[in-house]
This record gives sequence, structure tokens and C-alpha cells, in this order.
Amino acid sequence: MPAQVIDGKTIAQETRKKIAEDVQHFFALYGRAPGLAVVLAGDDPASRVYVNNKIKACEETGIASNAYMLPAAVSQAELISLIKELNLNAAVDGILVQLPLPKGLCAETVLSHISPFKDVDGFTAVNAGRLMLGSPALTACTPSGCIELIKSAGVSIAGKHAVVVGRSNIVGKPAALLLLSHNATVTVCHSKTQNLAEITRQADILIAAVGIKHFITGDMIKDGAVVIDVGINRFEGKLYGDAEFDSCFKKASFITPVPGGVGPMTIAMLLRNTLSAAQALAKERLNYAF
Ligand code: NAD
Repeated sequence: MPAQVIDGKTIAQETRKKIAEDVQHFFALYGRAPGLAVVLAGDDPASRVYVNNKIKACEETGIASNAYMLPAAVSQAELISLIKELNLNAAVDGILVQLPLPKGLCAETVLSHISPFKDVDGFTAVNAGRLMLGSPALTACTPSGCIELIKSAGVSIAGKHAVVVGRSNIVGKPAALLLLSHNATVTVCHSKTQNLAEITRQADILIAAVGIKHFITGDMIKDGAVVIDVGINRFEGKLYGDAEFDSCFKKASFITPVPGGVGPMTIAMLLRNTLSAAQALAKERLNYAF
């Protein structure tokens, strides 16, 4: 039987509507909107589009956002100094540094200066470590979006064999840890994995985060698998996923499309993290006040 398509766009819209209501509630309680600072260094066109989409999403949800557009020639020290200012700015609850950074800047070093309380991308060692420990954390947006999409399909994760293809710090690894925290049995595959198809064919839930157009084909999945396609591959002006949609669609029980699957959920999770960070910081300040 062909798969049901998980409509990430609609699910993201519903999630954003709920966040907008919670943002209004936050405003009523604290007399201000949650604030997100988005830092973009350089003029990478794809990054600019991502940043604009994030700013627009904030506006639509009632989150106050500020974009800091820096030249590609910005020094690492200048960038870190801006992050330190934003860490101290009480109107800023979330700080996002758009990746990739221009050549010569070390993302790991730059990101390490973001306060863990404002780390709405969940990329700092503190939040990644808390996720590993199973403690409350600001969790990377794309993997969180994957989990929400699986849940939205009514699929129970506990006890399932989940296979994650890709082990990056921003998608593959946190996705594996989140699946584990939902009691899946998790296998992580990567560029050095042998007999990949043998492993992916065992997956009840398959997350593809490779960055290669149509890398996962129908013959690599088992009947009834849930396929979450994280890939965004640009080819001749169009976007393609890591899964070959048509052949996977015929065998999967659920599948996310590209575009319109994981992408919109990533932004929704960024908004949710910004609100969560704002709520946590506001409570912390109240505790200090009394
Ligand atoms: P990455 O390049 O950092 O990591 C790719 C991973 O794929 C690596 O861990 C590597 O080991 C693995 N890999 C490469 N070749 C492989 C092979 N032949 N067999 C098995 N594994 C292999 O990429 P990333 O940042 O994790 O992103 C992955 C994809 O997801 C990209 O297409 C990216 O654009 C997309 N992405 C989408 C969103 C979204 O919001 N939808 C967010 C982040 C990334």
C-alpha cells in the first residue's frame, strides 16, 4: 500500500499557532515579547533565505526578532564580542548564529560563547551534553522536528528499531539521542558504514540526514517503514530530499516530502525553543527579584 504523506507544512502551522497563543500569554505575564537575535556573517544566498524565513516566522508568532548582518570579513573576535553582548541583553532570550560561517571563522569556537540558556539551536556543549544525559535541554531544532512529525502520524516510537543515516552534530547525533530518549532501539549509520542497505532495511523508522539527493531508494527500506527525510539538496533550481520519494512512497507507511516536510518543522521548533528559553529566563529573573 502506498504511504501516507506527513504534511510538515500543516503540522508546522498548527504548532506555530499554539506557540503564538503561548507567546501572547508570556506577553501578558511579563509585559514583553520573547526575543530572538539572529546573527548572519557573510552573504551566502541560501543562509540569507533561511534567516529571512526565521525572522518572518518570528513576526507571525509575536516573537521580537533582530537580525545582525555582518560582513564576510568580520573577525572571530568581533563576532564573539557581539555574542557576549547578546548574552547580557535582557531583551534577548535566544541567540542563533546562522551556519555555515565564512571561511576563517571556527563555528565550534564561536558557538561555544553562546549562553546555554539562550542557545535556541541546541548546539552548545552544555545542551548537547544535557540531551545525552537525558536532562531537560534546548534541543537541536531539526531533530526535534523529526520527532514531532513521527508523533503527528500517531506512530509510537518506543520499542521500534530506528535507523539514522548521518552522524552530524546538528542532525544525526541529536536525532539518535532523541529517538533513544523515546525508547527506540537506535542504529546510527554514516559514511564508513558497511552494508548500509542491509541495516536500513531493518528500520521501522528511518531518518535520512546524508545530504545526497535520492540516496535512499525504495529497495533500501522495509515494507511499512516510517521515512523521515531531512535532506535538502539543491539541483537545477529545485529541492530534493535524501530519499527517492516515488520508490520509497510505494513501500513506506508514512513519508515526509521535500520540500514541505522537516524544513517547516525546523522553524517551528526554533520558535518553540525561543519561547521555552524566554520562559526559563523570566522565571530565573523573578527568583532573583524575590
Ligand atoms: P553533514 O554533511 O554534516 O552530515 C552528513 C552525514 O551523512 C555525515 O555524518 C556522513 O557520515 C553521512 N554520510 C555521508 N555519505 C554517506 C554515505 N555514503 N553513507 C552513509 N552515510 C553517509 O550534513 P547535515 O548537516 O547533517 O545535513 C544533512 C542533510 O540535511 C543536508 O542535506 C542538509 O541540507 C539537510 N538539513 C536539513 C535541515 C532541515 O531543516 N530540513 C536542517 C539541517 C540539515
